[in-house]
Amino acid sequence: MAGNDRCLFCRIAHGEIPSKKVYEDSDVFAFYDINPQAPTHVIVIPRKHISSLDDLSDGEANVVGITLVRLAQIARDLHLSSDGYRVVANHGEAAGQTVFHIHFHLLGGRNFGWPPG
Ligand code: AMP
Ligand code: ZN
Repeated sequence: MAGNDRCLFCRIAHGEIPSKKVYEDSDVFAFYDINPQAPTHVIVIPRKHISSLDDLSDGEANVVGITLVRLAQIARDLHLSSDGYRVVANHGEAAGQTVFHIHFHLLGGRNFGWPPG
């Protein structure tokens, strides 16, 4: 994807749309969710555009792996690790996916029910 074809999260990662940045490096970008569902709600994405979990192939194993490694570090940096936090990835309509660029929700600062809604 390039230029005007970029999706919302690609544009955020490129700085074309403002966000409240939490972390960035050459592989991963993280920012606060605009509609937080917990006291701390961060979206963690690979910079590489992959539309959804269903589009993953072996070639993307490293990029998704490093995204989760960075997410865990962000959780430590935001002091979520000792109390606990939840990680959510929605795929498709039934799960309510609204942005089609793979992302992990990092949610913390409250207790979470199980099973999830
Ligand atoms: P999902 O429903 O899993 O696709 O999650 C998409 C998430 O992106 C939702 O929690 C939205 O609140 C969030 N979101 C949408 N637009 C923005 C934005 N411009 N900045 C930050 N978060 C956003
Ligand atoms: Zn994208």
